[in-house]
Amino acid sequence: MVRKMGFYAVLAFCLYGLFFYWYLFYLADPKLPFEYQGTKADPATFLNGRELMLSEEYSKIRNLLFFLSTPFEWLFYFLILLFGFSRVFKRWAESSAKYKFLQTPIYLIWLSFFAFLATLPLNYISYSLSKTYHISTQTFPSWMKDELIDFWLNYGTWLIIVPVLYWLMKKSQKRWWLYGWLLSIPFTLFMMFLQPVVIDPLYNDFYPLKNKELETKILALAEKAHIPAQHVFEVNMADKTNSLNAYVTGIGSNARIVLWDTTLNKLTDDQILFIMAHEMCHYVEKHIYWGIAGYLLISLLGLYLTYRFMNWTVKRWGKELKISDVRDIRSLPLFFMIISMLLFAASPLTNLASRYQETRADRYAIEMTKNPEAAITSFQELTRSGLSQVKPPLLVKIFRYTHPSMLDRISMLEEYQIKNGK
Ligand SMILES: [Zn+2]
Repeated sequence: MVRKMGFYAVLAFCLYGLFFYWYLFYLADPKLPFEYQGTKADPATFLNGRELMLSEEYSKIRNLLFFLSTPFEWLFYFLILLFGFSRVFKRWAESSAKYKFLQTPIYLIWLSFFAFLATLPLNYISYSLSKTYHISTQTFPSWMKDELIDFWLNYGTWLIIVPVLYWLMKKSQKRWWLYGWLLSIPFTLFMMFLQPVVIDPLYNDFYPLKNKELETKILALAEKAHIPAQHVFEVNMADKTNSLNAYVTGIGSNARIVLWDTTLNKLTDDQILFIMAHEMCHYVEKHIYWGIAGYLLISLLGLYLTYRFMNWTVKRWGKELKISDVRDIRSLPLFFMIISMLLFAASPLTNLASRYQETRADRYAIEMTKNPEAAITSFQELTRSGLSQVKPPLLVKIFRYTHPSMLDRISMLEEYQIKNGK
């Protein structure tokens, strides 16, 4: 029975992968609708033949990797349970820990370590692909260092969450999801507060803008939007990537706007001011707080569903998956698997909300800078430097796009340009 279930799970994963391969490489039509051909959103008007070909090719492979990686995680956790590895990790933890309180950290390190090993090949493929297409400029040691920081950061986070979670399960078999959710509120806010000052600097260097002339222009714009000057930062990314980006992060006194130095190196001042005005909208409209509120709301439902699914699974398949009791740490891979499935299932909704905020930010930015030519060319440059797809296939847009497609973004700007005669 166990081997049969394992076989079917692997088979299902392969069929799923084949479906997406067929969908992305054969079914999805990259051609632009007729009315967009020849417009400023048409990549044929601003990319050369080689860039066009590369961007299609690169996006297809990246999209495939995206759709494979999350279900691969589910498969991993499922097989860990099915073949009794979770039970083995627990036994190792029991036999090597002198004190009982060390058992969970040891169990967790084994599970994290194997999960890290299992996902490493896909992560490496993704990195080396990005390097082949000259998007990533990161050296292998630097990439590996980031992977290891990821590992320890995740381990540290789960080391705080997991013991509390299983303690709650033991205290209240029926309400642990609710108490867990209540505790997650201050925890989430605290992590969001620490993110820009403690976590992000582990990966990159952050500093005030180096170009003082540009800084003066940006701060003048920031003043117009009532953003304090000390909240604008530059980050050193040129050692890692060729692509361009800027973002808003942190809450409270740690809220800040961050510009990648690649963006500053490759765009003109007017283009940078448009990108900056876009970020300012996120800042002044407090999109991060809306995001946190939405996320907390969804996670309440998510934790309740996890509670229900875990109970159901252990009751129905407990024997095969070697979990006799939900409250036993051996059920942790099941918890991770269900959480990951729910997050994936919720992503069309969270992406939709994010795209709404992004559209607002684009509108705000063009109203503030009133320079559609700079705005359009900055998006064209963003497309070129990241070899991104202007018009992604529908499923890619639904599951992957936190921003509107470049087709939508550039078209909106072009409409503004025509309407305002600029
Ligand atoms: Zn944005």
